[in-house]
Amino acid sequence: MIQVRNLSYTYPGSSVQVLKDLSFDIQSGEIFGFLGPSGAGKSTTQKVLNGLLKGYDGSVTVNGTDLQKMDRSFYEDIGVAFEFPNLYLKLSALENLHLFASFFNTPTRDPEELLAMVGLSEDRDTLVSAFSKGMKMRLNFVRALLNNPKVLFLDEPTAGLDPANARKMKDIILDLQKEGTTIFLTTHHMDDAGELCER
Ligand code: ADP
Repeated sequence: MIQVRNLSYTYPGSSVQVLKDLSFDIQSGEIFGFLGPSGAGKSTTQKVLNGLLKGYDGSVTVNGTDLQKMDRSFYEDIGVAFEFPNLYLKLSALENLHLFASFFNTPTRDPEELLAMVGLSEDRDTLVSAFSKGMKMRLNFVRALLNNPKVLFLDEPTAGLDPANARKMKDIILDLQKEGTTIFLTTHHMDDAGELCER
């Protein structure tokens, strides 16, 4: 599902090569844990895999698309939840999901069902500006599920969550894998990595 061959990357204007000859494969339906100390290049790698950074050396294929030749249709089948939620603060939880759903050409999941999945049904009409960090994290997570992505990129999905909600999140991740989703998980939490990841 993901093939990375001899990936090297240097940020424009920088003399430091951040990624050096990186190669790995991720099979369909696998939960792959991407671990490493701060500054190792995890976010940079994820940005390349998401099609956000161009100008790399090597080859990167995600869901059958060579990212040097990608177009916007690539985003119909991938989901991304960054560590820092990017949501519209002046819209409610439900309005955020409806807005993001409108960006897709493919059928999307029912926003109310997604809110229920992470315990936010009662907060559906609350403005996101009034949400706690954990509530934003949960909304940001289900936002990434709107398009039923074949590949899901998660960056620290349990950061800022209480133990009960962290458990709920991990159960959802395991369920998604059972349904066949390929998951690229970036984390510092070794417990999460040990429990969720196959490699
Ligand atoms: P990680 O996610 O593993 O903490 P990053 O991919 O964020 O690592 O960073 C890897 C290296 O790339 C660091 O040395 C960082 O300073 C550098 N870097 C990150 N973003 C930029 C940028 N936009 N321009 C130049 N250097 C960057």
